[in-house]
Amino acid sequence: MNILVINCGSSSLKYQLRNINTQRVMASGVVERIGESMGQITQRSFPDKWPDTKDTEELPILNHEAAMKLMVSKLTNGVIQSPHEIDAIGHRVVQGGESFSHPVLVDENVMNTIKDNIPLAPLHNPANLIGLEQAMILFPETPNVAVFDTEFHQTLPRHAYMYPVPKIFYEQFKVRKYGFHGTSHKYVSKTASVFIGQKIEETSLITVHLGNGCSMAAIKNGKCIETSMGLTPLAGLMMGTRCGDIDPAFHIFLAKNKGLPLSEIDILLNKSSGLLGICRKNDMRDIHEARLHGDDDAQLAFEMFTYRVKATIGAYLAILGSVNAIVFTAGIGENDPDVRSMACDGLENFGINIDPTKNNEKTAEARYINTEQSRIKVLVVPTNEELEIAKATAEVVND
Ligand code: ADP
Repeated sequence: MNILVINCGSSSLKYQLRNINTQRVMASGVVERIGESMGQITQRSFPDKWPDTKDTEELPILNHEAAMKLMVSKLTNGVIQSPHEIDAIGHRVVQGGESFSHPVLVDENVMNTIKDNIPLAPLHNPANLIGLEQAMILFPETPNVAVFDTEFHQTLPRHAYMYPVPKIFYEQFKVRKYGFHGTSHKYVSKTASVFIGQKIEETSLITVHLGNGCSMAAIKNGKCIETSMGLTPLAGLMMGTRCGDIDPAFHIFLAKNKGLPLSEIDILLNKSSGLLGICRKNDMRDIHEARLHGDDDAQLAFEMFTYRVKATIGAYLAILGSVNAIVFTAGIGENDPDVRSMACDGLENFGINIDPTKNNEKTAEARYINTEQSRIKVLVVPTNEELEIAKATAEVVND
């Protein structure tokens, strides 16, 4: 069974074609700068085979319809013979609101509900809808499945997801904590439970997703009970360019004292803050390089970033009561031993001990990085959101 996974953004389209029976990735690609004067498509065909076949083409790509057609023409140029070989399409949809706690087969009702959730994700859901609409036009007989970033966090208890603001905002506008990166937290929590040899229903974990965007989840017996992102992906940890949790009165300060309009405050907090705001760099590799050269702002950014991860681990230990493992994932979480050790430094009395040798190993495999004595296991698990979406899509279609 061949599953096409689509992640449609406002100016980009990421895709991956996978045979779910063999687990083999047949192609993965990205169409970028859709709607600009010059766009680009890059596709890797059979990326696990040697030699790697990377094909990049620059051309104007007028809109998402053109992007999808381009993707089809690349896929049918050596990877598959015809679009009929695609058995189902799995779509990443960012905001499912309270309507979706599981992946769903897309029909008109589902499309309308995703539309209804646009106010909660004004940048993402419209792009995801375009991807769905185009897929339905181009592949009229192929089932489409929507997999939501928010669905894994729908098990949060109400005392965790409600905001202490007048309740009418929840009742009328559904303002509450939703949480994001759910597909990643779900995937690494399932993988970690298999790795430590326990049933997911009996496993309690803290998952730490540190990429450009960063979030954490507290998972009790397989169910998410707390997460760091909120109504939007701006909340929680410090991120590459996003501020994470700050005093909400900062908005008022900026408006009153700097005369900034909301649109500029939005850009400031989403695109110019986080690591970038503190040290002018948002890639953790560059920050380490700068720290080595004595850049104190880079040192401060590193300390702030890891401090917030540690504080959240502490909070989640308290919420969960007992924890089997802490799981690091995503670009920084998988590759950065300094961030992992700093975030867990001083937590020995809570039963968390990192083994420096294991922590410094460079491998792309899931692995333990804790010492033998550590009561709580610490793992690195590479995330794979496309695989999770492909599996979920196959399950819905085969149901
Ligand atoms: P996204 O949120 O865009 O999916 P990723 O999970 O791919 O992001 O993470 C991207 C980030 O991972 C980069 O900005 C960089 O900071 C970090 N990163 C990637 N490789 C390394 C590495 N070897 N060491 C430290 N950080 C890394």
